[in-house]
Amino acid sequence: MSSARLNFLGFTRSQWEALLIELGEKPYRAPQIMKWIHHRYVDDFADMSDISAKLRQQLAAMGDIREPEVITERISQDGTRKWLVRAASGSAVEMVFIPEDNRGTLCVSSQVGCALDCSFCSTGKQGFNSDLSAAEIIGQVRIARKALEAAYPDRSRAVTNVVLMGMGEPLLNFDNVIAAVELMMNDLAYGISKRKVTISTSGVVPAIYKLVGTTDASLAISLHAPNDELRSQLVPINRKYPIAELLQACRVYAATLGEKRTVTIEYTLMDGVNEQPEHAEELAVLLEGFPCKINLIPFNPFPGSGYKRPSQVAVRAFQDRLIRAGFGVTVRTTRGQDIQAACGQLVGEVEDKTRRQEQYKRIAVGAAV
Ligand code: SAH
Ligand code: SF4
Repeated sequence: MSSARLNFLGFTRSQWEALLIELGEKPYRAPQIMKWIHHRYVDDFADMSDISAKLRQQLAAMGDIREPEVITERISQDGTRKWLVRAASGSAVEMVFIPEDNRGTLCVSSQVGCALDCSFCSTGKQGFNSDLSAAEIIGQVRIARKALEAAYPDRSRAVTNVVLMGMGEPLLNFDNVIAAVELMMNDLAYGISKRKVTISTSGVVPAIYKLVGTTDASLAISLHAPNDELRSQLVPINRKYPIAELLQACRVYAATLGEKRTVTIEYTLMDGVNEQPEHAEELAVLLEGFPCKINLIPFNPFPGSGYKRPSQVAVRAFQDRLIRAGFGVTVRTTRGQDIQAACGQLVGEVEDKTRRQEQYKRIAVGAAV
């Protein structure tokens, strides 16, 4: 084991068990320790009263239980909350809690910035800085849970769903995202149903195949166009992994999930770009027989984006065409706009973007997945 201090916040059950065995302890201590960390939010091993003093001291000597630092927390008029949290790299990422009548969705970040440079995304415009660790990803869930439990002791508002739709491309930070997702779904940690934890990807095809047998979380793909020509302009990774390959990978993943599980198709509607009737018709043909539900996202503007949000009438017409073709289609309502918390508006504080080119090269040679 290296001499660097560990952050135990991101440890999965199997990592705990392996470590405990290595220390000559019984693996059944893992559930006890995990409950202290994720249910009771203990940050100090000394407080774990049912763990032996010797083990507590050994663990404390090896590492910490460390959440990312909260820099700011803002609450929107509509109840949406946005936190800016510090990453180890010194930059900061954003996460957002969106309360609805019967659920509360936490949108978490997986990277500081993003290398994929989708033309309509403010995170992409900032370039890539670094991956978040598993502790930094699951730490976002812990911070939000704690804050909501303090604000609503009756649990009237709580994190019931998590989407990896904040900053970054989750599948380019595969191992850390998978570890964090495992903790989100594990009853010893956050216990959220596999249907309510969603990984969103712009289409890193080899990594979608790697999900098979690794996790059974829900999957969303950012399609945004019904043909390769248009999609390649909006989502550059499409040049490497075109739509047919992407949909095929999703079919394989959805099939392994079993009954009644679908893939969510995300489609951001931009005025005059991808929201015409012919786009809806083409999309309906493309997705015929594909096990999906469609989520339309009216574009959220940010300074210098060069795109406009379509009218409500156009959004409605696009939705109606797809519904008539037999699809389940929802329109994502824009929340937290007064605090810049809507999709695609998360910017964090990305200080050093110089690693972007490096990440590009990794993707180009396929080494990132
Ligand atoms: N990198 C992942 C997840 C983060 S983005 C992905 O691309 O899927 C989450 C969703 O917000 C994606 O569907 C993304 O395309 C969409 N999005 C990005 N910028 C947006 C904007 N300005 N308005 C509306 N949706 C946007
Ligand atoms: Fe990255 Fe997703 Fe934004 Fe594209 S839409 S730049 S993949 S965060």
